[in-house]
Amino acid sequence: MPDRAATSPSVEQHLDDTRDARLESYKDFLRIPSISALPEHAADVRRAAEWLADTLRSAGLEHVAVEETSRHPVVYADWLHAEGAPTALVYGHYDVQPVDPLELWTSPPFEPAVVDGRMLARGAADDKGQVHAHAMAAAAIMTTRGAFPINVKYVFEGAEESGSDGLDEWLATHRERLAADVAIISDTGFFEGNIPAITVSLRGLMYGQIDVVGSAVDLHSGGYGGAVQNPANALAQILAALKGPDGRIRIPGFYDAVVALTEEERAAMAELPFDEEAYRRESHIGELVGEVGYSTLERRATRPTLDVNGLWGGFQGEGTKTIIPAHAHAKVSCRLVATQDPIDVFEKFRDFVLEIAPPGVDVTVTDLGGGRPSRTPIDHPMTRAAARALEATFGRAPVFTREGGSIPVSASFESILGLPVVLLGFAQPHENAHAPDEWMSLENYEGAIRAIVGTFDEMAKRDDGTPE
Ligand SMILES: [Zn+2]
Repeated sequence: MPDRAATSPSVEQHLDDTRDARLESYKDFLRIPSISALPEHAADVRRAAEWLADTLRSAGLEHVAVEETSRHPVVYADWLHAEGAPTALVYGHYDVQPVDPLELWTSPPFEPAVVDGRMLARGAADDKGQVHAHAMAAAAIMTTRGAFPINVKYVFEGAEESGSDGLDEWLATHRERLAADVAIISDTGFFEGNIPAITVSLRGLMYGQIDVVGSAVDLHSGGYGGAVQNPANALAQILAALKGPDGRIRIPGFYDAVVALTEEERAAMAELPFDEEAYRRESHIGELVGEVGYSTLERRATRPTLDVNGLWGGFQGEGTKTIIPAHAHAKVSCRLVATQDPIDVFEKFRDFVLEIAPPGVDVTVTDLGGGRPSRTPIDHPMTRAAARALEATFGRAPVFTREGGSIPVSASFESILGLPVVLLGFAQPHENAHAPDEWMSLENYEGAIRAIVGTFDEMAKRDDGTPE
């Protein structure tokens, strides 16, 4: 169990006294099948929003509202009476992933059950359990103290699992009302071995398509071979020039905006308990390869990449067909790191491809969209506040992790609202998010509530831990 000294005695007492009721409330929330991707569940998504709004209202929060977006509603709430103290914008999502294949679930996904200290249900960890922990932390603070140590604004989304449709517009529309000093996103998890973790960076994405066109129709390779440019050969030449055998990307200026890790950050990464051999085995490949000079963990989370995601053109049936294909195509994407801008990287990619394109073919390069990377310094006062609270609650200092993937909302908070982001998530690794038998460790769930209260308390202090 979490360290009892982490929160004030009255908060701890309250949480002890209300544990059974809290679990029932958690289960009630999980019973609502708020699957945002499926139109037939739209009413359930709204019901979950209303349920959450009622819970936040009874917790003592103010301006609680279910607000419309172009898709599913956002649930907003705040408490803004801590004059002079910082303001945190808390984010989570109350929608869930679809549940198929249903036959692989041990118990029905929307009939939550506690088994071996785990809450088993769709959304238990991703992300209703974490949203519920925030609501319960708010209730504990208001019941025992009647006031928050800082100002808080809550934004709980209902469309995260279906592309966050409508959220960016909603954030932009309410930019002034959402002003804060930091965004706390609770939608990630602990590191391997259930070590408390704060995610400090996420990669962004550039996605492009290359179309190479020669003749209007496939040509006979006997009559034309050697006399015309072959679009498939031309595409292969272009793709081969994008990246060297050393894993370095050859697009001029590609690395200009990449912020290198500090020696301290690299040392911290090297100390993470990462089982490289298990990672290799689980990915069913013989050998790990990547950019020279970097570890596997660094390559997959802190360095930008360039990958061909799809490649087609010419004859693909059985046997032989002697043609010069009329056209050839490739989808190419780059994972980006701070502070690369997806549009800038696309333009550099496009310009380089056009520059190296061999003669005799028409080459076009199309932007298929992208997203920004995000990065919060380890030594940001708000990151340090959250780290102190995690250590006090879980009895060990958190590790700082970097995710190779993207959480688009994190980039939205940075780019639309201009906020530093602290990714404070509590799920255990391998919690089956998006898969059958999703679960949340009740120890992590209970610890989350205490760590959230502790984070707000720490954010109210100066960076050295003394009261403001
Ligand atoms: Zn999630």
